[in-house]
Amino acid sequence: MNYLGEQVNALETYSNEAVCWLAIKLKGRYNLIRNPEGHTCGETSCKYCSSSKKRSGLETEFCDLFSIDEIKEIITGKPARLIEIMDLKSRTYAAIPGRSLTEFKEQAEKLFVDSGYTNWFLNERKNYLLANLLNQHTCNYCNREYIFVYEKKGKGMVPQFDHWFPKQDFPMLALSFYNLVPSCATCNTIKSTDNLNLSNHLHPYIDHNIASSYSFSYLPLDITKNQIIFKNNSFLNSKGIDTVKALNLELIYRGHSDKELQDLIDLRYKYSTNYLNILLEKMFPDIDISKEERYRLIFGIELEKENYHKRIFSKFKNDIINELISIK
Ligand SMILES: [Zn+2]
Ligand SMILES: [Zn+2]
Repeated sequence: MNYLGEQVNALETYSNEAVCWLAIKLKGRYNLIRNPEGHTCGETSCKYCSSSKKRSGLETEFCDLFSIDEIKEIITGKPARLIEIMDLKSRTYAAIPGRSLTEFKEQAEKLFVDSGYTNWFLNERKNYLLANLLNQHTCNYCNREYIFVYEKKGKGMVPQFDHWFPKQDFPMLALSFYNLVPSCATCNTIKSTDNLNLSNHLHPYIDHNIASSYSFSYLPLDITKNQIIFKNNSFLNSKGIDTVKALNLELIYRGHSDKELQDLIDLRYKYSTNYLNILLEKMFPDIDISKEERYRLIFGIELEKENYHKRIFSKFKNDIINELISIK
């Protein structure tokens, strides 16, 4: 998993649209006489605030739960705050006579998942907008698949967005910026059904130290066979390794043991000379070349953790190479 940063510009552009879409659905258009509680962003070019569409078939009690400020927070809030608002709103709703938490979830599914995520985010191609804004080149979780964006009428190419808090259990967070993680189809499908939580797992928008919290390593099974394994790097907690497990990275990387892992091990051990060192130190003797460029040309990876997302296998190969060259 890679640290995505706060993505301030992406957040602003995405939330400008998402807040208006959601606020109009919940509160309707602002009108001084007829709907003073309604929403408008004041931009005449805003297609949501200037549309004449009415709120769609949701219960008044549900819509009344949310203020405009809270709607903004649902879109832009950091993960911990999102959980707080969701708990507060669901409990307030369930306390209304004749209502329950199950009904809150049903209402939230209708609005945030069916209407919001499926009909607006996916069908109106806000996934392309967000993917372009985030500008990530590989799957955030596994870093072993490219996630390019190509817009085209009909079928285009766009990453999937995984809901870090799954939309099945947290439907109210289906459109929240910090809950949408660009990922490959495999990771989006294979992530553990046990929910991730902020106390035990790393979050790609929150935890700066993701790259250093766990390492790729390998385990010799016999003379010819090695297997990719993961190591936790922190004495203080097991968040790194627990996140790897929850994302099922051990399974996802299994098929790379005989190929990419073995290639690196061969460079170190198969021949009488340590070719890993020769490649890194003696290749390109006549040109002035940076260490980053060297790693890119020789192994096809990025050396700096901020750039890991630009090339597949960057962290995996870096960790393995470091381990192999540290063995004397
Ligand atoms: Zn607007
Ligand atoms: Zn992936």
